[in-house]
Amino acid sequence: MRDYYEILGVSKDADANSIKKAYRKVAMKYHPDKNQGDKGAEEKFKEAAEAYGILNDGEKRQRYDQFGHAGVNQSAGGGFHNMDMNDIFSSFGDIFGGGGGGGGGFGDIFGGGRGRSRQQRRGGDLKLTLALTLEEIYAGSQKTVKIKRFESCEPCSGSGAEGEAQPSTCSSCQGTGEIRQVQRSFLGQIVNVQPCHHCSGKGTIISNPCKSCRGDGRVKNMVSVDIEVPSGVSRGNYMTMSGDGNRGPNNTSSGDLVVYFDEKEHDLFVRDVNDIFLDCWIDYPMAVFGGSVEVPTLAGKVNLKVPAGIKSGQILRLKGKGIPEVNRQRNGDELVKVNIKTPSKYSKSVRKLLEGLRKELDDGATFSKFN
Ligand SMILES: [Zn+2]
Ligand SMILES: [Zn+2]
Repeated sequence: MRDYYEILGVSKDADANSIKKAYRKVAMKYHPDKNQGDKGAEEKFKEAAEAYGILNDGEKRQRYDQFGHAGVNQSAGGGFHNMDMNDIFSSFGDIFGGGGGGGGGFGDIFGGGRGRSRQQRRGGDLKLTLALTLEEIYAGSQKTVKIKRFESCEPCSGSGAEGEAQPSTCSSCQGTGEIRQVQRSFLGQIVNVQPCHHCSGKGTIISNPCKSCRGDGRVKNMVSVDIEVPSGVSRGNYMTMSGDGNRGPNNTSSGDLVVYFDEKEHDLFVRDVNDIFLDCWIDYPMAVFGGSVEVPTLAGKVNLKVPAGIKSGQILRLKGKGIPEVNRQRNGDELVKVNIKTPSKYSKSVRKLLEGLRKELDDGATFSKFN
C-alpha cells in the first residue's frame, strides 16, 4: 500500500487546504470521464479518494501519522477499492458538488447522477436471521419462512399501466432514462449525465397508471419462502438467495434475500468450530474398572467405552460425531469429558461399603503440579 501523502503529492505537514487542492488535482487527472476504460487511471482515482478520506479527517490523519496504514485499517468498511465510483462521488460532495461557475467547471465534471438512475431501478434486498438448533445445523434442514416483500402487481402484470394502455417510451430521453450533455472546457471534452426529469429516469411514461399499484407495478405481499439450509453453518454465516428480495418497479428485476444464520443454545452440547463438547458423570467403580456408557450425539445415542482407571476430567473422543464442515466430507468430533460422581445421598449399605473402602484405601491426599 502506498503512502497517502505520496499519493496526493503533499508533505507530511501539509494543511487541510493544500491537501484538498492536491486531491482535486490528482482526481482531475485520473477522473474516469477523462480516462474512459483505463483501469490504471481508475485505480489511481480510487487510491486518491482513499488517501483523501483519511488525510481530510483530523482524527484518522492523526492515527495514520502515528500507526501508518494499520491505524486506519478500513477492512471493516472495505475501503475505497471496493467502492462503487458513485459512492466515491457522493462521499465527497463538498469537493465535487455544487459550486457551479468559478474555478473552471468542477461542478460540471463531477456533478449529478452519472447515469445511475437506470441501474438503481431494481428491487431492494431483504435480510432475515434464521435461528437453528445444533441438530438442524448437523443434518441440514429445510425451513419455510414468511416474509413481506414487493411482488409484481397482478392487475397490470407489473407494467404499472391501467387496462390496455402500455407504458410508452419517453420522448425526452428516447427511453434511456438519462440526459447526456457534452461540453468542452479547458480539461477537454466532458460528458455530463443527468437523470431524465420528464420520466424521472424510468425511460417510460405511464399516462394511465394502474389503480392497484399507482403505476409502480408492484404491491407488498406476505409470502412463504423455502430456505434450504446447508449442514455445518455457523452463527454469522449468510446465504444470498438471488432474486428472492423485493420486486423492482415496473417489471425491473428483483433484489436478493440474504439469510443470516444464528445458533440456538443447546441444552447439552457446547460447540467449538466443528467439535462439540459435553460433560459425562460416572461413578467411582466404573472409573476403577472401566465400562460402557450410552452417550447422546447429534445423531442419536452411541456406546462409549470407558477405559479402566480413567481419571476425573479426562476427555474421550468420539471421532466424526461433531458438526460437518460446510461443503466438505469431514465432520468434527464429539469430546466427552469424564467426571466422577460424588454421591451426596446414600443408603446405609452403601455407607458401610464406603467406610470399608476408606479403611482399605486411606492414604491421605497426594499432590501434583497444577495443570
Ligand atoms: Zn425520459
Ligand atoms: Zn398495477
